[in-house]
Amino acid sequence: MNLHEYQGKSILKKYGVAVQEGIVANTPEEAVEAANLLQQQTGTGWWVVKAQIHAGGRGKGGGVKLAKSLDDVKNISEKIIGMQLITPQTGPEGKKVHKILIAQDVYYPGVSETKEYYMSVLLDRARGRNTIMYSPQGGMDIEKVAEETPHLIFKEEVDPSAGLQGFQARRIAFNLGLSGKAFKEMTSFVASLYNAYVHTDAALFEINPVLKTSDDRILAVDAKVSIDDNALFRHADYADMRDLNEEDPTEIEAGKFNLNFVKLDGNVGCMVNGAGLAMATMDIIKLSGGEPANFLDVGGTANATTVEAGFRIILKDPNVKAILINIFGGIVRCDRVAQGVVDAYKAIGEINVPVIVRLQGTNAQEGKELIDHSGLKVHSAITLMEAAEKVKQVV
Ligand code: GDP
Ligand code: MN
Repeated sequence: MNLHEYQGKSILKKYGVAVQEGIVANTPEEAVEAANLLQQQTGTGWWVVKAQIHAGGRGKGGGVKLAKSLDDVKNISEKIIGMQLITPQTGPEGKKVHKILIAQDVYYPGVSETKEYYMSVLLDRARGRNTIMYSPQGGMDIEKVAEETPHLIFKEEVDPSAGLQGFQARRIAFNLGLSGKAFKEMTSFVASLYNAYVHTDAALFEINPVLKTSDDRILAVDAKVSIDDNALFRHADYADMRDLNEEDPTEIEAGKFNLNFVKLDGNVGCMVNGAGLAMATMDIIKLSGGEPANFLDVGGTANATTVEAGFRIILKDPNVKAILINIFGGIVRCDRVAQGVVDAYKAIGEINVPVIVRLQGTNAQEGKELIDHSGLKVHSAITLMEAAEKVKQVV
């Protein structure tokens, strides 16, 4: 589950990570109120208005703006709330902005220069360890840094039994070129950031930029936080943080039926039991010259209810030209599944695209006969290649 910047920052703050302070707002009036309150709390006289969408690159797309007066806050908020924000990460259609974060300006001039760093905490799956990735060249062009000057991206791997060690936090501060107060602040920033990552069961923390202010404080200015879905049951308080505006409506619908659905761009809808088999099915569709329209794992029990829900979700996509159902009857019997397909088909009424059903495993032959004698426009197949051939003929 991805979080908005303001939600990510509130979690960081709870774990003692220093952040650029801010207050979320839904309207320009709330924004002005927030700016006033922030001025009382932090003494700031300038603010940044930041669009809250689940995509980065907001600065480049015009979704992060500096406001030097309360009038600015109002005018900028009016522009940003409701806009369709296009950034390098949203795709050409952009994302609608519903909320904004009014944050204190932390780029004020002072004794030393402000400096932007990059820092993320993530699981390195190949190494099986949590890793802190960081760079002295943070800010809006980190992708370019990774491409052109990869030696400026550092990694610190954490031993899971020992946890993050003091010398590691100091090595990070050193590699970032810090000294004095900023060095000390960075070591505690890193330690609390890592602690927050572990305790929130996060899949990713990406803080870009981590800022050194002109008075040598270290702050998280941005926060991309993603919580591991498989651990959400341990964090009931995060459930409210889910923002359905940011999710694909068909994926939300699928979730209600416990179906694992991911929308893709092709024209062959797939319905499969088991994630591995679903991947293999998508490969076969590609091999036969088609493009999968989705990933859909109906789970172990492929019955009439789940198959019907699957059909309805797949058919919402106007690109779908054929549907391939690929079920392995291990625990579930193929004739039961076939009956489920027939019942679901009848419940929906007319399905205007060809449906190819491939059943393998327990009672596969009985299942095939049931499909063949159903009188419906459903083609049956026993082997996967046979199914792929039939898909090829119809798309
Ligand atoms: P992103 O573009 O979606 O990654 O959004 P960020 O939160 O990283 O903000 C983008 C950029 O806005 C930062 O790299 C800064 O250059 C700028 N920015 C953020 N906060 C402030 C601030 O308090 N004052 C000023 N002047 N600029 C800011
Ligand atoms: Mn950023």
